[in-house]
Amino acid sequence: MQPILKVNLTTGDIAEYIVPPEWERDYLGGASLAARLLYPLLTGDLDPFCPESPLLFLNGPLSGTAGPSVGRFVVCGKSPATGLWAESNCGGFWGPELRFCGYDGLWITGKAEKPVYLWLNDSHLEIRDGTEVWGKDTYESQTYIKDEVGISGAHVLTIGPAGENGVLFAGLLCDHGRAAGRTGLGAVAGSKNLKAIAVKGTKKIPLARPELFPPLRSAANHALKEDNLTHVFHDLGTACVADYADYLGAMPKKYFHSGVFEGVGKVSGSTMAETILAGVSACHACVIACGRVVRLEDGEKRKGPEYETIVSFGPNLLNDDLAAITRLGELCDRYGMDTISAGGTIGLAYYLFDRGVINIKDTSGLILHWGDVKTVEQLLHLTARREGIGEYLAQGSRLFGRHFGAEQEAVQVNGLEVAYHDPRAYSGMALVYATSPRGACHNQSDYFYVDLGQADSSLRMEFYNRQAGSEKALNVARHQDWRTVFNALVMCTFANVSVDTVVALVNSACGLDWNVEDLLGSGERAWNLKRVINNRLGLTRANDKLPKALLEPYQDGGSAGYVPPIDEMLKAYYIARGWDPETGKPTPKKLVELGLEWVTQDIWK
Ligand code: SF4
Repeated sequence: MQPILKVNLTTGDIAEYIVPPEWERDYLGGASLAARLLYPLLTGDLDPFCPESPLLFLNGPLSGTAGPSVGRFVVCGKSPATGLWAESNCGGFWGPELRFCGYDGLWITGKAEKPVYLWLNDSHLEIRDGTEVWGKDTYESQTYIKDEVGISGAHVLTIGPAGENGVLFAGLLCDHGRAAGRTGLGAVAGSKNLKAIAVKGTKKIPLARPELFPPLRSAANHALKEDNLTHVFHDLGTACVADYADYLGAMPKKYFHSGVFEGVGKVSGSTMAETILAGVSACHACVIACGRVVRLEDGEKRKGPEYETIVSFGPNLLNDDLAAITRLGELCDRYGMDTISAGGTIGLAYYLFDRGVINIKDTSGLILHWGDVKTVEQLLHLTARREGIGEYLAQGSRLFGRHFGAEQEAVQVNGLEVAYHDPRAYSGMALVYATSPRGACHNQSDYFYVDLGQADSSLRMEFYNRQAGSEKALNVARHQDWRTVFNALVMCTFANVSVDTVVALVNSACGLDWNVEDLLGSGERAWNLKRVINNRLGLTRANDKLPKALLEPYQDGGSAGYVPPIDEMLKAYYIARGWDPETGKPTPKKLVELGLEWVTQDIWK
């Protein structure tokens, strides 16, 4: 792989770092390699906002090729929202452009004295004054910096005012709306006075077996183009799942407290396609093009919302106004805030207001009525600026709830708001949310697709009923390992590429001769290493749980009357994982099996 460029913003030192070849082989790249590289630094006493706190941007071994949906990169560090392992991946074109500069990653530490941005032009890196761009929203920031660097084709990854102001769910955005949204790493960038990173490169992507890769990726893209899922994502966007998620009771409404909302049909992917859709957009070399371009009543073309944003500002708040959802999503993008956490935290405020736990004295005088989107807009402004009630909303739902004596009502796991795939409809998601290394996360395993029937036999996965219990624990573990491989390759999980194809692509790009079990082993190793990182950061067996709302059955809708048997599922999961059932830690035997014996002393003193 290419070197990683290390930048210390305190001293201005810049140096190339060569990854040891055995780490490259064992972890492949992306979030897995980041876990290995950051392991020594992520200690319990590390303040995510201190200068030493690292921000590591990494590509994978396929990134930047024309392979199937591999234009993504990941940013990793310690989350200010959860205090745990943080990773967040992002599409667009910025990651490939970084690779074209001759680097597979950027590793930032330190804190600049005043706002700066980085400008990497091939292998030449400048730390530039960012005073003029500080305070601009993420769209303005990209335009301003592109103009200032003056080189056509430069791509800019930037924070917005939310990251500057330390909002705990601030992210980084590039290419007008592609976001590394989750876990608050935008606020970490802000704490370093780092506004943005602009990149433009001209180099070629290195491949271990360049003669084998092109025909493989052509065949993979051809197969992907013909795939039914691709057609649905292309035509309807990620909100294609809205109708059946609603039918199955998997789409949360009224902050996870109602199984039905009659306005769902007005905010689905098919409704968007029939009403406001004006085009599609794609990340680098992706044949799926799930991104939406919409035109609202002002006639301007803008980014259309994806599924999570639609539910977050739609059914979650009993709102069925698709245009308003589009604008709220854009407002979050401009401020640089994660839409899942923003809508989740505002949903908690609405819920507590409805129940009389908070009132207008707490809400800066705002009345929080379900469905009133004007108020949501005001709350987003207050949150990004940390004014009034926004000071507490900016801390995410766990701390918002704690401040008002209602932490148990917050629908979050370990400080990360639950994504909108309800485990009362797909029980596998109960285990996924309870055990994900970054809090309640659907990107560490979108197991709901398995519960819907996408059980790939070459991963040795069985099909179980969507509301089955502990019998699916091993399946979930294997699926998490598989998605950990995707997050190492930084391959988009929407790409329904066959397992054999992924194996062949990795072998040709990395010069390996692996089979699927080798690849899964790499995923399992990284999953366990992230677990050990979290154990060192204070995570225990007691952290593996679901919030109260998800353990109360819906009264109506497609999943009424069911709650996942999380306790028995977790017991089976620890066995499937080879983890100690008392502590939830990987056992010394498991660590040896994975080549991780070197961490044993850190968690089994
Ligand atoms: S499927 Fe969508 S998110 Fe994934 S790489 Fe393609 S355009 Fe980007």
